[in-house]
Amino acid sequence: MASNIVIEREQAGRPHKGKVFAAVHAHLDDIPYYASGLCAKLMREGYTGYIIRTTNDEKCGGRSTAENILSNEQEHFRMAEVLGFKDVYDLYYQNHEMDGISSIEVRARLVLIFRLLKVDTVITFNPYGDWEENPDHWVTGRAAEEACWMAGMPNDFPEHMEAGIQPHKVQERYYFYGRAGQPFNRVVDIAPYIEKKIDAIVECRSQGGGNWGSQLRARLAKQGRRLPLLGSDDRTADREYVRQFLLDDDREYGREHGLKFAERFYYRDQRPPVRSKVEEYITKNAVAI
Ligand SMILES: [Zn+2]
Repeated sequence: MASNIVIEREQAGRPHKGKVFAAVHAHLDDIPYYASGLCAKLMREGYTGYIIRTTNDEKCGGRSTAENILSNEQEHFRMAEVLGFKDVYDLYYQNHEMDGISSIEVRARLVLIFRLLKVDTVITFNPYGDWEENPDHWVTGRAAEEACWMAGMPNDFPEHMEAGIQPHKVQERYYFYGRAGQPFNRVVDIAPYIEKKIDAIVECRSQGGGNWGSQLRARLAKQGRRLPLLGSDDRTADREYVRQFLLDDDREYGREHGLKFAERFYYRDQRPPVRSKVEEYITKNAVAI
C-alpha cells in the first residue's frame, strides 16, 4: 500500500487555471476537517471551487431544530467565504436521514449541478464508506460518485439538454479519508494552507468545535485562571485551541512523510489518455485503400 501513495505538494503558479471542482459534503464541518487544506490549495493553484451541502444539519447546534438549521446555514456561508468558494449549494435533506430518500433524486440534483458548473473534479466522501456510521456520509458519497459519470451521458436526464445544459463528465475525484481503515492513495501537503484550514474550522460553531477555545477561556476566567495559549481575545482563543487540540489527524498523516500537516484521499483519475490505443494503432498500421 505504502508504495502506491502519491504525495501531492504545492505547485507554483496556477496550473489548474480554467478547471472547476465541486466539494460535496453532508454537514457544516465535513469539508473543514476532511478537505479544507486541499480545497484551499486547489483554488490557489487556479481551480474555481463550489461547495455543496446535502443536509440541513438540523440535529446539531444544541438549540431547537429550526434554530440549528439557521445557525448551521449561516456558519456554512461564512466558512465557504473564508475558504474562497465561488458559490454555495444547499440541498437541505433532513440530517441523519439521507438513507431514507430516493437515491435517484439526489443523483439527479447533483448531475444538474455538475453539468451546469462544468465540474472537472469532485471532492467527497468515500462512496463505499468502510466503518462509516453516518448514513448522510455514504449516501452523499454514493450519489456523487454515480453523478460524476452519469453527468456525461446524454441519455440521462435528457431534459437538461432541452434547457441548454450539456452533458459534462467529471474526470477526477478525491474521496475523503473519513474513518480509520478507509483506503487512501494520496497524501496532500497542506502545511502552506493550515491557517486557512483553521479559519474554516473556527466558523464551525454549531458543530465542529470552532468556539471551544473561547468557551474554555470563559470557563477558566470564572475560576480566576487563564491559559496563555488562548491569548487575550475570543478569536485568538478559538484559533489557538483548534491548532493545539483539533489537528492531530493532520499532523499524524503528515508525520510519516516528513510533512507538518497533511490530508489523506483516495484519488481517481479518469481523464482520457492524450491518444487512445485505437488512434495509436491506426497511425502505425493504416494503409491506403
Ligand atoms: Zn458529517
